[in-house]
Amino acid sequence: MSEQAEQAVETPELDRYECRSCGYVYEPEKGDDKQDIPSGTLFAELPADWRCPVCTAKKVAFANIGPAGTASGFKENLGYGLGVNQLTPTQKNILIFGALALGFLFFISLYGLQ
Ligand SMILES: [Zn+2]
Repeated sequence: MSEQAEQAVETPELDRYECRSCGYVYEPEKGDDKQDIPSGTLFAELPADWRCPVCTAKKVAFANIGPAGTASGFKENLGYGLGVNQLTPTQKNILIFGALALGFLFFISLYGLQ
């Protein structure tokens, strides 16, 4: 948590803005190719007549959603966490088959003891 706070203090000008109409996110690092906005342009520096490239909403329709580092990094961490628990169908079959085989062996061993 402390790292994110420090990052926000270091780069407050790189806040991203999300279009509340369509969900488009303006990222200062990328700019806006379609409207000749060079990368590194802050949202506040965009021309007053700049419109959302997706739905042409005005700048006032955008909401500050914070710098890119925090949200995207959090999503990546989530992906790593889920990736460990996500099994492919093949892996699931191996697990199921393995459990059945173990159960069968256990069943046979019980007979062996009697
Ligand atoms: Zn939009």
